[in-house]
Amino acid sequence: MTQLSEDRFAMGGKLLPLEEVQARIAETFECRAGIETVALREAVGRVLAEDVVAPIDLPPFANSAVDGYALRHADLLTDRPTPLPVRGKTFAGHLPQPLEPGAAARVFTGAMLPAGADTVQMQEDCEERGDSVLMRPGIGRGANCRMAGEDVPRGASALERGRRLMPPDVGLLAALGLERIAVRTPLRVALFSTGDELVQPPARLAPGQIYDANRAMLTALLTRLGAVVVDGGILPDDPELTQSRLREAASRTDFVLTSGGVSAGEGDHVRSAIEAIGELTFWKVAIKPGRPVAVGQVRGTPLLGVPGNPVAAQITFSLIGRPLLDRLAGATYQPPRRLFAKSGFSLRKKLGRREYIRVIVEASGVAQRYPKEGAGILTSLTHTNALAELPEALTQLSIGEPLACIALSLLHG
Ligand code: AMP
Ligand code: MG
Repeated sequence: MTQLSEDRFAMGGKLLPLEEVQARIAETFECRAGIETVALREAVGRVLAEDVVAPIDLPPFANSAVDGYALRHADLLTDRPTPLPVRGKTFAGHLPQPLEPGAAARVFTGAMLPAGADTVQMQEDCEERGDSVLMRPGIGRGANCRMAGEDVPRGASALERGRRLMPPDVGLLAALGLERIAVRTPLRVALFSTGDELVQPPARLAPGQIYDANRAMLTALLTRLGAVVVDGGILPDDPELTQSRLREAASRTDFVLTSGGVSAGEGDHVRSAIEAIGELTFWKVAIKPGRPVAVGQVRGTPLLGVPGNPVAAQITFSLIGRPLLDRLAGATYQPPRRLFAKSGFSLRKKLGRREYIRVIVEASGVAQRYPKEGAGILTSLTHTNALAELPEALTQLSIGEPLACIALSLLHG
């Protein structure tokens, strides 16, 4: 039975490996977003449209990393403590006097180093004696000093275009004195669910009906990626209506995303609609769950159809939709980092496709399989913390073997 359905999917063309999908996306689609400038406080999550070159040294001047005493390293004895007279005191934000020869100057964290000083001794390592201070030997030259430009030198690249700005990026841009940032304009994404069985509250469920989970989930994923969602609602399983609604959406948005209706079944009309009114780029990908998906264009507007089962919808959106959306949004796609856990289970697997199973990676580093596995089991994503990735070539996994895992938090934008 399983064998039969595998063959049905394989018929009429080979399954694309995931790496090839990403390469196909890169060669088929281009950035569709414009450029605008925004205030830095609104820039988090936005895509940098230009490289940022540091307009100043960061830090802008040499300063002390600690509360202590600035001195010339050459004045320290190497074999016993050195007494130095204390001359001058500098707080952060204030100008120091040049350091007198053979003296130390009191400095606080962030204060400019006095001219002539090349080392700072932490106050905890000094013995204060009235007007002088006893310095312990053994400190290295340059200790506890932060040099001008040591973080980013002026003129160097601070952040590269295509980066989705994270909170620390915003901190870096602020430290460089930048106030307005060139970013990509948000993509407008038309979103549809498909299926005669789907309803939306406040409607009550009639026999055979279910509530639409995917539109809410995909809206959340898209919103986190900075897209503006144009809600197309629920499409009934009707070929003409599917075609006309997709055509209309394609003419008004930058990207069309649908869920459901992409299999080869009789009630599935999304893939055939793309073929009828546009162009199908590919639709068979060697991953499970998540196959088939439909990637194509309608009237020059890219379109992605993910499967209807919510888990498959989420996983394909994250592994195929994300690189596609990043491409369209002018963002550089960063595949989610895989970390290795120890498998807490064994399994057998079909050769030639990549499988993703939901696991809980415990604090010990052991990954336990979520007991309910189906592509429709929503709790397999809400009650776990990672996707274990089983490579194409693997056919058997044993307990204790290393298991590549993607943290779910990385997949959720
Ligand atoms: P399909 O991909 O259209 O063949 O749908 C596969 C399975 O996913 C079916 O059990 C559908 O009822 C279910 N499904 C499709 N769309 C949704 C949705 N938006 N929310 C929840 N379940 C869905
Ligand atoms: Mg359906």
